[in-house]
Amino acid sequence: MSKIETPRPIRGTQDMLGEAALRFGAVVDAFDRVRRLYGFGRVEVPVIEPTAVFARSLGETTDVVSKEMYSFEDRGGESVTLRPEFTAGICRAYLTEGWQQHAPLKIATHGPLFRYERPQKGRYRQFHQLDAEVIGSGEPQADVELLCLADQLLRELGIADGVTLTLNTLGDGATREAWRAALIAHFAKHRGELSEDSLDRLDKNPLRILDSKDPRDRPIADAAPEIDDYLSAEAGAFFAAVTGGLDAAGIAWTRNARLVRGLDYYRHTAFEFVTDRLGAQGTVLGGGRYDGLIEALGGPPTPAVGWAAGIERLAMLIDAPDRERIDVAVVPMGEAAQQMALGILADLRRAGIATDMSYRGNMKKRMQKADASGAIWTVIIGDDEVANGEVTLKHMADQTQCRIRPDRLVETLKG
Ligand code: ATP
Ligand code: MG
Repeated sequence: MSKIETPRPIRGTQDMLGEAALRFGAVVDAFDRVRRLYGFGRVEVPVIEPTAVFARSLGETTDVVSKEMYSFEDRGGESVTLRPEFTAGICRAYLTEGWQQHAPLKIATHGPLFRYERPQKGRYRQFHQLDAEVIGSGEPQADVELLCLADQLLRELGIADGVTLTLNTLGDGATREAWRAALIAHFAKHRGELSEDSLDRLDKNPLRILDSKDPRDRPIADAAPEIDDYLSAEAGAFFAAVTGGLDAAGIAWTRNARLVRGLDYYRHTAFEFVTDRLGAQGTVLGGGRYDGLIEALGGPPTPAVGWAAGIERLAMLIDAPDRERIDVAVVPMGEAAQQMALGILADLRRAGIATDMSYRGNMKKRMQKADASGAIWTVIIGDDEVANGEVTLKHMADQTQCRIRPDRLVETLKG
């Protein structure tokens, strides 16, 4: 007999059932509640985009574009990429769908992203993010509002205490150029001591050396010049407006002058919410202002700011949600009762009462299942009940029961 081998799941993907799926859902539900409170509308964008959307906007030298993208030629010969992040695709849509007319646009989404990374706890090849963006606003209030949204999300998830907001400014274009030149001069003096990766970054993306995790780079990165010495008056005022706004809103933050974001297009505000409860994968939410991105996609100068949070990482931090229970289990005995049960099941569900019935099993099995399901009530239908046109309604915790006409069930259960 030939044995058919079941295909294995793709490395770095996850299947979720039970508690894992409930945790995931709880994070998404909280986000959906909070984004409404802040007036962020829902958007949906494709999982797949032309490769140029990411290559142009993220910068060819970033880790994501150079090493992590799932890119392939489709059957028509076009190079396409499974999205590794939300922002670039949303900005593409902003331009191609004419969403400029709605600026400033406050939007949110969530869904799967793909990066070819080394899988480990909290790091997957298919992972999921919550995402919030404000496009078409250069006001620091937009940055503050997004940070308040992030903070409130963490509070509603019950994890705000274990997570810290770390904040930096990357300045405006002029600031960044001057700082970049100073960083290159500093790192060039230490060429011999830097890791291979950082030598590579020195030519392409010297800011990235600052957040290198390689111990050989750390002392050199820690001694690097700080942006504050190069900050223009405008950039300084912008940062002061953001931090002042956070203080006014009662949101705690700490400055991390070494914080740079992985992607090239960031300006001004950059931030991460970090925790020490997830080992090496301690960043749960990151973002900042990306005033240069829409131009990189061929659009007009458009200021924008946003963040993304890893759903899996948030899901690991929250308390386990209560399991989903039904209100009523229906337990029929025999053919006629089964038929009557189908009508009752439909009526209760249509009335918004969570109701379930096993597909099979004798009375005892079904009662056990009803008990295990956590149902508050059971509706028992036996021969006697069928003959009298009644059912038995049993309260599971009290073990009390009464006979009742089926058409009185909804009213009784809702009362
Ligand atoms: P990291 O430094 O952990 O690689 P990143 O800077 O690449 O993060 P972003 O691009 O800022 O991450 O994405 C925002 C958030 O998405 C991260 O803070 C994290 O919570 C989550 N995230 C990023 N990559 C992954 C992944 N491969 N698996 C699970 N979550 C991820
Ligand atoms: Mg990464």
